[in-house]
Amino acid sequence: MAGSEQVQLQRVLHMNSGEGETSYAKNSTMQKVIASYTKSIRKDLARDYYRDHLSDKMVIADLGCSTGPNAILMASDAIQSIISVCSDLGHPPPEFQVFLNDLPLNDFNSIFRSLGDYNYLSQGGDTEGQLCLIFGAPGSFYGRLFPSGSLNYVVSSTSLHWLSEMPEVLQEGSVVNKGRICLSKTSNPSVFDAYKNQFQAGFSLFLKCRGVEMMKGGIMVLTFMARRGSDPSTEEDSYAWELLAVALMDLVSVGLIEEQKVDFFNVPFYAPSMDEVEQEIINEGSFAIKNIELFEASYNALLADQYFEEEKQEEITQNTSNGIQFSHLKARHYAELTARSNWVVLESMIRNHFGGEIMEELFKRYCDLLEEYYCSRGIVLELIPNIIVAVERK
Ligand code: SAH
Repeated sequence: MAGSEQVQLQRVLHMNSGEGETSYAKNSTMQKVIASYTKSIRKDLARDYYRDHLSDKMVIADLGCSTGPNAILMASDAIQSIISVCSDLGHPPPEFQVFLNDLPLNDFNSIFRSLGDYNYLSQGGDTEGQLCLIFGAPGSFYGRLFPSGSLNYVVSSTSLHWLSEMPEVLQEGSVVNKGRICLSKTSNPSVFDAYKNQFQAGFSLFLKCRGVEMMKGGIMVLTFMARRGSDPSTEEDSYAWELLAVALMDLVSVGLIEEQKVDFFNVPFYAPSMDEVEQEIINEGSFAIKNIELFEASYNALLADQYFEEEKQEEITQNTSNGIQFSHLKARHYAELTARSNWVVLESMIRNHFGGEIMEELFKRYCDLLEEYYCSRGIVLELIPNIIVAVERK
């Protein structure tokens, strides 16, 4: 991604389209689990906002909606909550306008195909329900997307850890993060600073744009991946990137890709600490923080998901009596899950930089490395730290 400018990143980045084996739609369970952790906070905030403002129109935006079942989830949770408070209060529900935002290459077609007749929230199975108009809003959330003062409720889930662009120092053509593809515990301190500065600049711009677009008193709920502490160089924060870098170097050693290509590949991802997020919101000034928390999403919840085919679940159940074997199987499952989740998220960038032919081989090696890592640790890293922050437009 060296030499990339913001506009290029936006032309490249997208989660895998469609509904196939390596689509985001089929591999977004982790994001769905994260959304389930935040559901009650999101719903309560939407309910309280509506109860305090009782208007005849509610404008909702989901920023970074992607495709698949999660694309409409954030908006529909808010809508359900508002409809239920209306029924408690005996107040007619508002007309809903929902804007689904993502980068232009996102598979908006499959969202709208799957929505069918959503324009009326059906009540009793007909189209007499409450009007709910859904619009696609393609573009970067690091810029203006909506008219001034138009939004009541904004939500964004597992999207803001994507930077607006690659930090400048990694764009300049000199190799500053050799052997690594993102922040890693062995990265040079200048690389940490560059990623952090890029996050701060992008997040501040994000807040500024939403500050203009939201109505006074409007609520915004943001969830994204985070670091537990201020130290950006812990193993748990960087092992997944480090192992993907090792897998890429394996492909160099068998002559499938050039080392120089790996030197210039960096992923625009940054998981901030809670302090960094809080500080940026305070510095930017458009919003008051209502609530900010770090929570740990558990991989275990995924074992119950359909991603694990029945036979694998049986295999796990049958082996519960054998501790070692069980943990090994579990490690394999986590490895497959992590590798597959990263595949559907990173493919557009990897394809653009190295070409698509390496995908199968790269992710097979990556999966093996993850399995080895999980096994050698004795325990599987089951928790993924995330931040949820709710703010009110001042
Ligand atoms: N909210 C969904 C999707 C999360 S994946 C869920 O919970 O499952 C992150 C999404 O953010 C991707 O679809 C990606 O394309 C989008 N994204 C990343 N950077 C963006 C930007 N600058 N503007 C808009 N969307 C962006």
